[in-house]
Amino acid sequence: MTAQVIDGKAFAATVRGKVADHVAKLKDEHGITPGLAVVLVGEDPASQVYVRSKGKQTVEVGMNSYEHKLPADTDEATLLALIEQLNNDPEVHGILVQLPLPKHLDEDLVINSITPSKDVDGFHISNVGLLGTGQKSMVPCTPLGCLMMLRDYHGSLSGMNAVVIGRSNIVGKPMAQLLLNDSCTVTIAHSRTKDLPEVVRRADIVVAAVGRPEMVPGEWIKEGATVIDVGINRIEKPEGGTRLVGDVDYASCVKVAGAITPVPGGVGPMTIACLLANTVTACCRANGLTEPQGLTA
Ligand code: NDP
Repeated sequence: MTAQVIDGKAFAATVRGKVADHVAKLKDEHGITPGLAVVLVGEDPASQVYVRSKGKQTVEVGMNSYEHKLPADTDEATLLALIEQLNNDPEVHGILVQLPLPKHLDEDLVINSITPSKDVDGFHISNVGLLGTGQKSMVPCTPLGCLMMLRDYHGSLSGMNAVVIGRSNIVGKPMAQLLLNDSCTVTIAHSRTKDLPEVVRRADIVVAAVGRPEMVPGEWIKEGATVIDVGINRIEKPEGGTRLVGDVDYASCVKVAGAITPVPGGVGPMTIACLLANTVTACCRANGLTEPQGLTA
């Protein structure tokens, strides 16, 4: 068996297209332009790349992009004052504080100072609680992207055995919650899990969010299972230079799985697309307007 490759790049383009259509409608029919504010503290090179990419894609779908770049030594009071200003700005419908923050800043405090309805990353404790109780919330972008691809491929996920490897607050836990909300039987595996291969072998759906290059081999995968690879790891090539790989060993998994996301070009492109989707959703909710279909959980 050779797995069907789930093309995250193409899927993300479709999501961005739906967002752009809805933004155009909001502008034409209501004179509203959704706005996303991104706050970057410091000069972390990877974060700078992400922020640039987010700003570019925000503008491409017709939304307003507001970038706030603060020096690495910004104190907490200054950052909280900026967030308060954005919370109160009616032109701003989504606020994202790029993580990680410099060590002297309290990430939990900062994230929880964002108004939950503008928290397009879905990390505020109120949104975590709403998701956990099956209520309408802002859903973290990476797991939302994974869920969209799974729903698109399978239709209903009801009754499927899902194993999520990784229990981080940004990927593993919200992913497990989303799968549970879609009536999967969910197992969350982590570094203390006993006999991980056996646990993974039971899964109809495997979501790997570990941060360990090519850790999951094909022999752990049940024939025909769907494999969603969240990992992004840069490794050295034998001939020199580097390349990106996921948390699953693609070469062996593609031979057993029913469907698989590649790295790059799988989950990665979906994350920013879902950020844009969350921003348009937040804008509609703020204005009491109908939300776009299929862009949220
Ligand atoms: P974290 O480091 O926060 O979490 C990793 C999780 O993996 C932890 O729960 C850890 O367990 C678990 N783990 C580590 N080693 C093992 C092991 N040997 N066996 C089983 N479980 C293990 O990572 P993130 O969730 O933030 O990210 C995971 C991956 O996803 C990374 O490669 C990251 O780059 C990528 N990523 C990709 C995104 C995208 O847009 N595509 C977005 C976000 C992340 P424990 O809790 O016990 O320590």
